Order: sequence, then structure tokens, then C-alpha cells
Amino acid sequence: MPKLKRLLVSACFEIAQRRRHCSRNQEHEICQGDKCLVIKENMTKHNYCMECAVLILQKAKEELDGLAHELMSADTSTPQGF
Ligand SMILES: [Zn+2]
Repeated sequence: MPKLKRLLVSACFEIAQRRRHCSRNQEHEICQGDKCLVIKENMTKHNYCMECAVLILQKAKEELDGLAHELMSADTSTPQGF
């Protein structure tokens, strides 16, 4: 079986080893010991505070839902009888 293409970028939750700033908003602080979302993209690491992590995950879910919805409607709208 050919390997499936990964749609999602590499992301995981990490405990900050030191004080970091959120990549989305430099005013958001991630304190040492805080959980943060780390997204690796093109060899670059981005840290996001939990507030932004929720939004990022929400948006990713919406995009996936949108794609899944299109996939489903494309399936059912295929003309039958060919
Ligand atoms: Zn943030």
C-alpha cells in the first residue's frame, strides 16, 4: 500500500522549558511549565499559547469538515447510470 500523504503539519503539545512568546501574537506569553502547541513547518518551529491553540485547532477542524462535506456531496451528486 502506498503511503498516505499527510494532510496535517506536524503538531504536538509541549511543556515550555522556558518562557516563550506565542507565534501568533507576541504579546501572548507562554510561561515556563505551561503547555503550548508546537507546530513544525518547513524546519521552523512555532509555539502557540493555549488560547491560540484552541483557535488553530478549531480552524483546522472547520477546514477538514469543509473538505469532508465537499467529498460527501461530490459523492452523492455523481450522476448515476454510467
Ligand atoms: Zn497566543
